Amino acid sequence: MNHFNELKLPPALEKALQVMKFEQPTPIQAKAIPVALANRDLIGCAQTGTGKTAAFSIPMITRLTKVPNKTGLILVPTRELGSQILEVLKNLTQFAPEMKSTLLIGGMSMKAQVRSAQSKPRIIVATPGRLVDHLKRGTVSLSSVEILVLDEADRMLDMGFAPQLNEILRFLPKVRQTLCFSATLPSDIEKLSARYLKDPVRVTIGVVSQHANKIQQSVVQTLQTKKNDTLMDQLNVRKGSVLIFARTKSRTDRVARYLAEYGHPVTRIHGGRTQGQRTAAVEGFRDGRFRILVATDIAARGIDIPHIAHVINYDLPQVPEDYIHRIGRTARAGAEGQAISLVTPEDKPQWREISRLLERSGTKIAIQ
Ligand code: ADP
Ligand code: MG
Repeated sequence: MNHFNELKLPPALEKALQVMKFEQPTPIQAKAIPVALANRDLIGCAQTGTGKTAAFSIPMITRLTKVPNKTGLILVPTRELGSQILEVLKNLTQFAPEMKSTLLIGGMSMKAQVRSAQSKPRIIVATPGRLVDHLKRGTVSLSSVEILVLDEADRMLDMGFAPQLNEILRFLPKVRQTLCFSATLPSDIEKLSARYLKDPVRVTIGVVSQHANKIQQSVVQTLQTKKNDTLMDQLNVRKGSVLIFARTKSRTDRVARYLAEYGHPVTRIHGGRTQGQRTAAVEGFRDGRFRILVATDIAARGIDIPHIAHVINYDLPQVPEDYIHRIGRTARAGAEGQAISLVTPEDKPQWREISRLLERSGTKIAIQ
C-alpha cells in the first residue's frame, strides 16, 4: 500500500487525511491497517514517532462508520497521552460530525465526563483508573464496544495496570476486535495479552524494542554532586527545546527550580501536580513558551511534540525499556534528535542493562 486512497476508506476520513497532509502511510500504517480492516486482532510493534496512533485510529473509525450502533475504546497509560489521542481523533473525524469521541481521565470533573458519556460518543479514550470509577458507578457502559485498543500495550499489560484492566475486561463484550501497539514488546507479550486477544497477527517494523533511527545518543559521565553543573553545561551548548527526565517528583521540582533560578524558561510535570498544572505545563512547552520541560516518566510514553530537539536523562530510567520510550520523544516523524544520559558511578549497573537492550539493535553510543 503506497497511498491511503488504495484502502477505500470512508470519504469523510479520506478527506480528513488530505487536510492533515497524511498522504503516504508510514510502514506500520501500511502493514497494520489492512490487517485491522480485515477484522483481525493485532499486536503491532514499531519505533517511536512512526504513526502508531493513526495505525489504530484509521481502522477503528472505518469500522465504526460501517456499524452505527457500535463503539470503540482506546486505553492509555497517562492522561496527557489520552488528551493527545483525542486531538488526533478530532482531526480524523472533522468531516464526520456523528463520530464523536470523549475523554475519561483522572484529575478532571466526573460530572462533565458523565454528561459527555451520556451523549453517546462513538469512541472513548480512557485511562484505566478513571474508566473503572465510571464502570463502578454505572455512568459508562462498554456493552457496545466492537473494537478495543491498548496503546503502549506493554505498559498497559504490566503489573501496575493489571487489576484495573481485569476489572474493565469484565464489562467488555467477549466478541470484539482488539489491537495492541507499542515500540517495545517483551517476548512474553503473547502470554500477557492472551486474555485480550484472539489469534492475533503480529506486525513488526524493524527490530522489536529498537529506538528511532535518527537519534544521536551520548553518555556524559559525571558525579551525583556535579549533576546540576553538567546539566547546565549541556543546556548552554545546545539549541532548541529540551525534555529532561528526573527520577522522582521532588527531584523534578528541584531540577526545575535550579534551572529557573538561572533564568531558563522551564516548566515541569509529575503525578503530584494538579491536572490544571499538568495541562498548562505540556501546553506551554508544546507552544514554545518554555524551552525546557522537566518530567518524571509520566512524559516518557506517547507524547508527540515535534520540536523536541534533545532528551536529557538527568536520572536514568528504572526500567531499560523506558529508555527507548524517553528518547523517542525526540526524532519524531523522520526528524532528527539528540539523547544525552548523565551517568554517575552509582548508575553503572543500570546503564549496563540499558546498553544490553540497545546492543541487540546494534546501537553505538558516544561516551564523553
Ligand atoms: P507513535 O505512536 O508511533 O510514537 P504518533 O502516532 O504519535 O507516533 O505519530 C508521530 C507523528 O507522525 C505525529 O506528529 C503524526 O502527526 C505524524 N504522522 C503519522 N502518520 C503520518 C503520515 N502517514 N503522514 C505524515 N505524518 C504522519
Ligand atoms: Mg504512540
